[in-house]
Parts: sequence; C-alpha cells; structure tokens
Amino acid sequence: MLTHLVSSSRFSTKAATSKSFDVAVVGAGAIGCSIASFLLELDSSLSVAIIERDPSYKIASSVLSVGSIRQQFSVPVNVEISQFGVDFIKNLSSDRNGDVQFDQGGYLFLAGKSGEDQLRENVALQNRLGSEVNHLGGGEELKRCYPWLNTDDIVESSLGASGTEGWFDPYLLTHALKKKAIAKGATVINGNVVSIAKDAKAIGIADVEGTRQVETLRCGSVVCAAGCWSQNILASVSGVSAAAAREWLPVYPRKRNVFVIHCPDPLLVDPPVPLVVDTSGAYFRREGRPENGIFLAGGMEGVASEDLDCDGTAEELANPDHEFFMDHIWPALAFRAPAFENSKVKSSWSGFYDYNVFDQNALLGQVLPSVDNFLVATGFSGHGIQQSPAVGRGIAEKVLYGEYRSLDLEVLGASRVQEGREVKEKNIV
Ligand SMILES: Cc1cc2nc3c(=O)[nH]c(=O)nc-3n(C[C@H](O)[C@H](O)[C@H](O)COP(=O)(O)OP(=O)(O)OC[C@H]3O[C@@H](n4cnc5c(N)ncnc54)[C@H](O)[C@@H]3O)c2cc1C
Repeated sequence: MLTHLVSSSRFSTKAATSKSFDVAVVGAGAIGCSIASFLLELDSSLSVAIIERDPSYKIASSVLSVGSIRQQFSVPVNVEISQFGVDFIKNLSSDRNGDVQFDQGGYLFLAGKSGEDQLRENVALQNRLGSEVNHLGGGEELKRCYPWLNTDDIVESSLGASGTEGWFDPYLLTHALKKKAIAKGATVINGNVVSIAKDAKAIGIADVEGTRQVETLRCGSVVCAAGCWSQNILASVSGVSAAAAREWLPVYPRKRNVFVIHCPDPLLVDPPVPLVVDTSGAYFRREGRPENGIFLAGGMEGVASEDLDCDGTAEELANPDHEFFMDHIWPALAFRAPAFENSKVKSSWSGFYDYNVFDQNALLGQVLPSVDNFLVATGFSGHGIQQSPAVGRGIAEKVLYGEYRSLDLEVLGASRVQEGREVKEKNIV
C-alpha cells in the first residue's frame, strides 16, 4: 500500500491542486518514464509528475546509449531483469506506442585462456535461469561460424539464442516509455529540481538553467531517476551534505565514446555481425542492414588509463576521443576482424555512463536511512537502458506496496553501499 499519498484519501489526489502529486519522479530518461508508466499501470488513480530539465534530451544517457540488450550477465538478477526487458521490448512492437526497431542480432562473447572459466560459469548460470545461451567454442570451431573472425587465441565463446539479445533504438524506447506514461496520466513538468524537503514531501523546481526557483510541488514520494546527475539530487535534500551524498550514492558521470564505422567488406555481410564483445574489452556490432557496412564500436573501459569522473556537462561530451579510437579500439577491431583494417570512422558521439564506482550495478530504492519515501534508481554503469522496463516495474511496486512483487530487486538495494555489500557484475561492457 502506498503510505505516502499527498492527501489522506487514496482517491482524492487527482482533484487536488495541480501542484500536488502522489509521486514525483525526477528525470524523464528511460528509467524515470518507465517508473511513471508502471506506477500508473498498477494504480491509475495516482497522480504522478515527471520533472525534466531538458526535454530535448541533449545529454541524457538514454538517447546517447547504444541500446543493446543481453542475457549474458554474471549476476543472476541482471539476467532476470533482461529476460523481462527483452519480452517488454518485443511486445512494444505490437503496441500502438511503437516499434523500437529491435534487431535480434545477438551478443557473441569471446574468451581467451584467462577468461574461459568465467565465461563457462556465466553461461551455466544464464542457462540455469532459463536464458538460452549457447557455447560456440573457439579456434577452428568458431571460425566455421564466423569466417571473418580471427579466432586463433579464442578458447571459448557464447551466443544468446535468437530473439533473446540484440539492440534497439534507445531514443525510440525512451519516447515510447514517455508516451506510455503520459497516455496513462503522468504530468511532465519542464524544470530543474533544486531542492527537496527533508521528509521528501516537497520539491523546489527552478527554471531550466537552475537559477531561479519557480515553483514548489507537494508530493507523497520522490523517486530520483536523474541518471549520472542523481548524486546532485540526493545532495539537494535538505540536511544532506555533498559529502554524505558522495558516500551514500557513489554514482558519477563517466564519458564513453561510440564510433560509427563504414566497412563495406562483403565478408562481413554473411553471416551478419552480432554484437561482439572482444577479449580486449572492445565491442562492435552492425548497425542497420548487413550490406550497408555500417558498424558501431566502443568499449575497452579496462584499457582506459584514466577513466575520470566528469562534471556531467554538455561541453565534456563535445569531443569524442578519436585518439583513443586510433590507439586502442581500431587495433583491437582489426586484430579480431581483419576486414576492419580498411574502415573509416564516419561519425562519433559521447555520452555519460551513470557509473557506480562501488560495484558497477544499479542502486535501487531507499538511500536515506530515515526517509522511506525518497527512492533512487541509478548507477546502471552501462546496462541501464535494457534494465528500464524491469526497474520501472520494480520501483513502482516498491513505491506502491513497499516491496518488490514481480521480480525481487532487493539485492540491488542502494543501502548496500552503506552496508559494504558489493554485487559485482563481471560482464561490464
Ligand atoms: C555511450 C553509451 C552507451 C550505452 N550503451 C548501453 C547499452 O548498450 N545497453 C544498456 O542497457 N545501457 C547502455 N548505456 C547506459 C544507459 O544509457 C543508461 O544507464 C540509462 O540510459 C540511464 O537512464 P536514466 O533514465 O537513468 O538516465 P538519463 O537518460 O540520463 O536520464 C536522466 C534525466 O534526468 C534529468 N535530470 C538530471 N538532473 C535533473 C534535475 N536537477 N532536474 C530535472 N531533471 C534532471 C536529465 O536531464 C536526464 O534527462 C549506455 C550509455 C552510454 C553513455
């Protein structure tokens, strides 16, 4: 039961002043919109506001994502989250809110000697949980499947079954979730959240620049879905210092680059290129029809010598790191698929991971020990867009019933940072 309605009557809130909402969601990225949509799906009598400072989504991670979804994780709950995610995404195509261009191209994980045991362990776990992920072996065996791949040093590999993994348009997914939320009655407010009352019963909203406070909303609960800027939202709660916010919500913007490559080599057309996660940490996948010869590439976070926290500004995203591509990514690609030696970078972009430096997994739910109506959903560290459906449903349940009912997300509770309980995802891409 939702205990934090703005009024005493469960059914009177819609009629209350437009400045009062049962739930205020901060951030209209995929996560915030999904939460709002599921809240209203579970209880259409609720009043829900989504507050977003940039409706153009210029630097929101959701629209700058690569939009990939996989079953191949090492943490059980991440596998289960994506199982729901892939069904949700497939069902969207039959929904009037739209197709998100889901390409069921699959993920091919590669392992050399040092990664073999881990890969086998992961696949065993994924299969145990009901995800169909197959071993494709290494060396000649794998080469027969993908003649364009250099498999000399590959000992083992795995590929998710058709229909379970692939990629979609993250912009379309974000908008589909937003449209769903609005269609069910959510109110989208354009503004910058600058302050939150100690008991999370009121939110101060400024103009988009954040310079002039323009209104105060009353609310029953606040859900912070502000992506890599979530720590600022926590620090805006009255009585929470910036240092405490850093300690309790160790989520920082980390710049990630994506390169769009043209490589019209007929070898790469058949069989088409899935999303390949190389032993080096680089990834590449085809974009669009195989015969177009367009690929996206990025990754290698383990190789980056300096992976610095950023301030999360648009300026920081202005220049994708082409030197990093030339020095690290391109050599790795050309080693793994020699056809990429003859390729050209057509364009590039950068976005921020909402990077959880504690254990690279989502931080969900209550974060302030004594405030149970202030929840967070952030820290996804590169796998957030695919988690938006299951996390949206889970947080909606948590707000409404005080517990997860469909899929238990408790293991990802944000309080684990204070408890020192790590949930390490070994398959970070
Ligand atoms: C290059 C790149 C590739 C990625 N690839 C994948 C992938 O293949 N698969 C995958 O699952 N994930 C991927 N991710 C990660 C994924 O995109 C994110 O984890 C996810 O989109 C986070 O969604 P969000 O809604 O929490 O954040 P966002 O989309 O960033 O939304 C947060 C919103 O909050 C708003 N906001 C912030 N502060 C305030 C405030 N004070 N007031 C009002 N509004 C505010 C922001 O304007 C923003 O719109 C990738 C990310 C990047 C950068």
